[in-house]
Amino acid sequence: MSESGIRENLKEVENNIASACQKAGRDRSEVTLIAVSKTKPVEMLKEAYDCGCRDFGENKVQELLDKYEALPDDIRWHMIGHLQRNKVKYIVDKVYMIHSVDSLRLAEEISREAVKKNVKVKILIEVNVANEETKFGTTCEEAVQLVRDIAGLPNILVKGLMTIAPYVDDEEKNRCYFQKLKKISVDIMRENIDNISMETLSMGMTGDYRTAVSEGATYVRVGTGIFGVRPPMLKGEEK
Ligand SMILES: *Cc1c(COP(=O)(O)O)cnc(C)c1O
Repeated sequence: MSESGIRENLKEVENNIASACQKAGRDRSEVTLIAVSKTKPVEMLKEAYDCGCRDFGENKVQELLDKYEALPDDIRWHMIGHLQRNKVKYIVDKVYMIHSVDSLRLAEEISREAVKKNVKVKILIEVNVANEETKFGTTCEEAVQLVRDIAGLPNILVKGLMTIAPYVDDEEKNRCYFQKLKKISVDIMRENIDNISMETLSMGMTGDYRTAVSEGATYVRVGTGIFGVRPPMLKGEEK
């Protein structure tokens, strides 16, 4: 028995994903659960690992590196938080995917470091679909052009799009944003840009992953629903 309830929480999340897939006529294998472990201690990640989790999401470079060192090497680490260009070099050969690319300058830095370390880096373009002032991400209008610009950079693989929907009490309110992200990905796919894939849609968090799955999410990023509540963010910290 897990004292923290992680095993039970994971079961519940798994059931919810499975039933959302079923209702939407999707195969369960189309959706990967990312356990968002930011602020949580290594022991809790180990517990989730022992329950079968292999995809973990972190939003801070140093924290990701510490956990990377401490945990088994078959984990796929997802960088889901805002990434400063001067920190790219520390993670470029350690992360499985960077979900939060929202500028050409950041992509250029990732490309440069990836070439140096001779790795290929999978990235997603973060789109601020709800146009929230507090959030990072490119605008819907700029997303296609950004993908075109990034497409030519060496050692970068654009795999799709990511969004962080608004915090809402009723997840139905976010359905339109998930639909919008899906639509942008279809529009980009139609452009037939070389070296670009739109197979990945990273959308849905604890409050809205069921709706996200029903609208086509291939990654859902669940933190609170697995590990419990986090301490409140400090002033100045990003959403
Ligand atoms: C913290 C975070 C999550 C997880 O949020 P929960 O509401 O705890 O599930 C997902 N995505 C990103 C980008 C985050 O920063």
